[in-house]
Amino acid sequence: TVVTRFAPSPTGFLHIGGARTALFNWLYARARGGKMLLRIEDTDRERSTQAAIDAILDGLAWIGLDWDGDTVYQFSRAARHREVVETLLASGGAYRCYASQAELDAMREKARAEGRTRLYDGTWRDRDPSEAPAGVKPVIRLKAPLIGETAIDDQVQGRVVWQNENLDDLVLLRSDGTPTYMLAVVVDDHDMGVTHVIRGDDHLTNAARQKQIYDALGWTVPTFAHIPLIHGPDGSKMSKRHGALGVDAYRAMGYLPAAMRNYLVRLGWSHGDQEIFSTEEMVAAFDLPQIGRSPARFDFAKLESLNGHYIRQLDAPALLAEIEKLLPHMAQGDELARKLTPALRDKLLLALPGLKERAKTLVDLVEQARFVYADRPIALDDKAKALLTADARAVLGRLATALAPVEPWTAEATEAAVRSFAEEQGLKLGAVAQPLRAALTGRATSPGIFEVLATLGREECLGRLTDQAG
Ligand code: GLU
Repeated sequence: TVVTRFAPSPTGFLHIGGARTALFNWLYARARGGKMLLRIEDTDRERSTQAAIDAILDGLAWIGLDWDGDTVYQFSRAARHREVVETLLASGGAYRCYASQAELDAMREKARAEGRTRLYDGTWRDRDPSEAPAGVKPVIRLKAPLIGETAIDDQVQGRVVWQNENLDDLVLLRSDGTPTYMLAVVVDDHDMGVTHVIRGDDHLTNAARQKQIYDALGWTVPTFAHIPLIHGPDGSKMSKRHGALGVDAYRAMGYLPAAMRNYLVRLGWSHGDQEIFSTEEMVAAFDLPQIGRSPARFDFAKLESLNGHYIRQLDAPALLAEIEKLLPHMAQGDELARKLTPALRDKLLLALPGLKERAKTLVDLVEQARFVYADRPIALDDKAKALLTADARAVLGRLATALAPVEPWTAEATEAAVRSFAEEQGLKLGAVAQPLRAALTGRATSPGIFEVLATLGREECLGRLTDQAG
């Protein structure tokens, strides 16, 4: 059975590239009835704080990716890593190297001068340990093949070949006894039964090193798939100056997890012309050969339009639930959070169907819904101010009187009342409706004005009209 894994290093957030890697691993495993495992690569003790780990777990949970079995923490496996190195030492696949820093520097110089990429000259490969200088703690190196080649058949990159003469005898265990990253990844993937390693192509050269370790241990090499990294819209590697890198920032901007998943799956993978995928469709369609070899460019407009699509798919209660989840993460979300009484919830439920049509993000939606939860007197934007001329304010005063007795206070009944008021006054409907909209919402655009009237209720509407009436 297929076993994939996501192996993030805790750096403080879940990078969008990491989220995509996790998604690909998840899809590949789910599609094949396999398992996706999670391994936190926390060997860098400075960076691997609990907060940094939580940020990754949170990000995965938000985007809707789960994993099988217990989370593996790489640092906790150091004893096992050392044990594997011991077996390699015993079998002659590895050796102790006592070269001093000065000697290594000299080797490096010499290699550079001679144009070689193999920097370590192999001094200690076959030396008798009795020659070891006293008091020096050795590193342990892999006795890598000197000739021939190391190759992998990558599911995305195709066959990738390295000449062994260019590859160093890499260090497996540092002189302080700590395992190197390269060793730890191989031992963990092997012990976890990983069959498919799907990760960013920044790890492609590591694959050569790791392949050599597998070979030395006589272990089955997993299938590799190295995905091109995500680039910014300008084609250079995605960085902060292009936009947010952490998944948490996209949550805070009001993107729905379903939209984010759909966006990420299409970032470097395609299935014909299809753009919109339910999770089930992704699982059914996903495979490694359709991952492109060139980097995908991050397209913010596309993410927004997908998000708008997913927002429109949700009914009002579902949207309100998403908004409530967002508020603690959203800048300025506390105003609405503070005001969210059952009565306000009911008003929002009435307003959301009209509002969702134009919203690109949940933050947009919260902003567009401001008229529902704004305190009187509500703030007017410039366009609303321009609509509220002295004449218009006089009309609003008379309109308030005409609306006061309307019963019941529904969109239909208020519409009938506004229409007959306009007729009586010899005004076009727009000459009444536009100032009315400005007074009720503080803006020149809003959902249908009669829905707005119904949403806000009689008391609030008459109050807002009176606030602006001349
Ligand atoms: N921990 C590595 C990273 O976060 C990934 C290692 C791997 O997937 O093999 O980039």
